[in-house]
Amino acid sequence: MSIRKFLAAILCLVASIEAFSLNIKVRLLTEYTPTSVVVSAVSGRYSLICDKQINAVVLEAGTSITLTYFGNRVKVEKGIELLGTFTEVEFIGTKYNNVFSLKTDKLPQERVYEENLSVGVLGNSLLLINTISLEKYVAGVVQSEVYGSSQDVEFFKIQAIASRTYCLANLNRHIRQGYNMCDAVHCQSYKGRCTQADIFRATYETFNDVIVDSLNRLISPAYHSNSGGMTESAGNIWQKDIPYLQSKIDTFSVGARNYEWEKIIPKRLWVNYFVEKYGEKYRTEELYQEAIVNFEQPIRKALWIIESDTIPTKDIRAYFKLRSAFFNVSLQGDNVYLKGKGYGHGVGLSQEGAIEMVRRGYSCEEILQFYFNNVRIIKYTEIIDL
Ligand SMILES: [Zn+2]
Repeated sequence: MSIRKFLAAILCLVASIEAFSLNIKVRLLTEYTPTSVVVSAVSGRYSLICDKQINAVVLEAGTSITLTYFGNRVKVEKGIELLGTFTEVEFIGTKYNNVFSLKTDKLPQERVYEENLSVGVLGNSLLLINTISLEKYVAGVVQSEVYGSSQDVEFFKIQAIASRTYCLANLNRHIRQGYNMCDAVHCQSYKGRCTQADIFRATYETFNDVIVDSLNRLISPAYHSNSGGMTESAGNIWQKDIPYLQSKIDTFSVGARNYEWEKIIPKRLWVNYFVEKYGEKYRTEELYQEAIVNFEQPIRKALWIIESDTIPTKDIRAYFKLRSAFFNVSLQGDNVYLKGKGYGHGVGLSQEGAIEMVRRGYSCEEILQFYFNNVRIIKYTEIIDL
């Protein structure tokens, strides 16, 4: 081996070790905007760094610190002892398995997290940021988002790859506020560390795997509960055509729990919707009245055309809080009867369809390639320098 090749190999090794240790910053308890929180060490040991100075206090397993918003600073107390007020307080794990819990009045029960925590102030509340390895975060997200909907490792693998892809494609989403992802559904739901062995296994079996499109770009892995037998194109929902998010027939979703729905709406309310949006003619003219109580979608129709009006079915879905925009309408006395299919926007992967594909023996790669056109699964280290 030449010196150059040897050096290149060493560089690759260093790069892969660094990739292994990729950390991300996740804001915790985002929706709760806490003003006071109790941080406890569950295992390991934490050093306390207050405004970049190492504090004499060490958080051993089983001990706690109380942090309170205090006029744009963080007040730090250990029991009845006041340690001071600071702009930033960091909890740095110093053992192998560092785990902490957070408790606050606004949270029904404590949450448990791994690795490091920093606490500052944002607006009128505490800003809690968990610095954690990408893989542990992904496992935590999979458990928060889908545990209970399936028990199958292959399904967890799909979710792990999708979650990792989403995270890496959106690392700058909150960068101005000092972190990468929030823990709410705005980014990805993350309620703490993963405790399920099968989810860990799925995460590590897909280590570093992400989904890329035909140009090797990370995709936006949209998903929903059930497609109703036909997925929707992104262009019909988000006004942006995306080659890997196209409508297709999906028989795997047929018959699952959220495959069908029905809803009865008083005709008066139904008519009012069209009158308010598209004019009085829907109240006064027979032709328009007839039209809005007779509508069928043998296949998904993003737009309902009535004479010169173009009515997006997704708007009707949003207004009447329907499970999907894939529905038929008929008249039943003084009511309109809606019979619908699917649950969610219908774009990308159908979770219930994917669960059925797993049951029939398809691999996670085959399933992702069914719901997303012309994509590949690769290691993200092949395309991004982090
Ligand atoms: Zn967010």
